[in-house]
Amino acid sequence: MAPIPGSGLAKGLAVTLRTMTRKSVTAQYPDTQPELPPRSRGVIGLFEENCTVCMLCARECPDWCIYIDSHKETVPPAAPGGRERSRNVLDRFAIDFSLCMYCGICIEVCPFDALFWSPEFEYAETDIRDLTHERDKLREWMWTVPAPPALDPGAEEPKEVAAARKTADKLAAAQDGVPGQEGRA
Ligand code: SF4
Ligand code: SF4
Repeated sequence: MAPIPGSGLAKGLAVTLRTMTRKSVTAQYPDTQPELPPRSRGVIGLFEENCTVCMLCARECPDWCIYIDSHKETVPPAAPGGRERSRNVLDRFAIDFSLCMYCGICIEVCPFDALFWSPEFEYAETDIRDLTHERDKLREWMWTVPAPPALDPGAEEPKEVAAARKTADKLAAAQDGVPGQEGRA
């Protein structure tokens, strides 16, 4: 059967009228900021103090876009008569975000909690070379990392917190000069 003349136009107008009354889903970015989940994968922050230069993140990165340089330093023995030890000192830590595919593997594999997701995503550059963020910039991103969610009220205290509290109590007792309190916590 031949279509009724003008029926296509009527259908088109009906769609226009229907969508005109609906709420728009287009956000006028950058005038309107998107409402992203707090733990969105925007950029990676480096908590340098925790990094032991184990190289695991650089080895596991599927894009080979983590660049780490380091050197070894000799540390004096902890106790008299002990052996000297050596430790890795970080010289360079950089991530090339023009290659990164935001898979999160580096963050997952880091055994020392040195890498974190930040939801900050506005770091576009006009020069692609500027998308390689060096350690200082990666450290700066740490200020934009959201605090971890609170523990369940019934959860056991994390062992790191318990150990830190024990050490702090010991130091406080030693400063107060309370004999016999050093080992108690
Ligand atoms: S998120 Fe994935 S691709 Fe990006 S640096 Fe980490 S491991 Fe590499
Ligand atoms: S895996 Fe973690 S500790 Fe090891 S080099 Fe990477 S950031 Fe540093």
